[in-house]
Amino acid sequence: MAVSRYLAFIHHTSNVSYSPLTITFLGTGTSSGVPMIACPCEVCHSVNRKDKRLRTSILVQSATTTLVVDTGPDFRHQMLRANVTHLDAILFTHPHKDHVAGLDDVRAFNFFSGQPMDIYANELTQEVIIREFPYAFSEKKYPGLPELTLNSIDTEPFVVGDILVTPVLVWHLKMPVLAFRFGSFTYITDANRIDEAEKEKIKGSEILVINALRKDQHVSHFSLSEAIAIARELQIPQTWLTHMSHQMGMHDNVNRELPNGVALAYDTLKIKI
Ligand SMILES: [Zn+2]
Ligand SMILES: [Zn+2]
Repeated sequence: MAVSRYLAFIHHTSNVSYSPLTITFLGTGTSSGVPMIACPCEVCHSVNRKDKRLRTSILVQSATTTLVVDTGPDFRHQMLRANVTHLDAILFTHPHKDHVAGLDDVRAFNFFSGQPMDIYANELTQEVIIREFPYAFSEKKYPGLPELTLNSIDTEPFVVGDILVTPVLVWHLKMPVLAFRFGSFTYITDANRIDEAEKEKIKGSEILVINALRKDQHVSHFSLSEAIAIARELQIPQTWLTHMSHQMGMHDNVNRELPNGVALAYDTLKIKI
């Protein structure tokens, strides 16, 4: 309880002095991306660019610091598309493939900065990263391999450059996933449940990003109505939905049906906080 009061104190007192942040949605699609390979559906054949969703990730930028949340299979394309020429750190939510598979391409940033990349992840995610990219952690390394510095995080706030990050624990069926709060902005992906105590850490956010897979229920993701219910319960003024499947439907059609203050995010969307 003391911890959550302390966090509430940080959030409520420091919003005004937070450095302004720009958030860029690098990807807003579920694990298969949209369009999905070989799918004949109308969403996968839509000509609306908002129906084209790379795997879920965001870029968070202050005046001096740039970090990315997750490096899915589209990481390289996302860095090129957003013209990211410097990256200070990578924050990981959880170790599923659609959130870690692109990590190898961090090599380019190592090459130009001459520095290892700071990785912030919980123990579970670190284990998977070491298992899936063993060559990056071998004693004798080939030149040109990824250079990574692992930093352990759990639910304690930490600072990257001038950005204060508060992790929030959420659940992806039985897997713990880290959501992240940056000032008045909270980013949640791959969740279907949030404990009451952790909801306290989200309250007071002006902007919430939360995963909504599709209209029908799913075992490990919030559905559209479940995500909207969380946003209402936490009294969030503006909510953006992410990690969407082609089963959600056409962007423009679904967006029109949403209540005030809730909208589907789309790739390349930028918001300032
Ligand atoms: Zn995912
Ligand atoms: Zn489809």
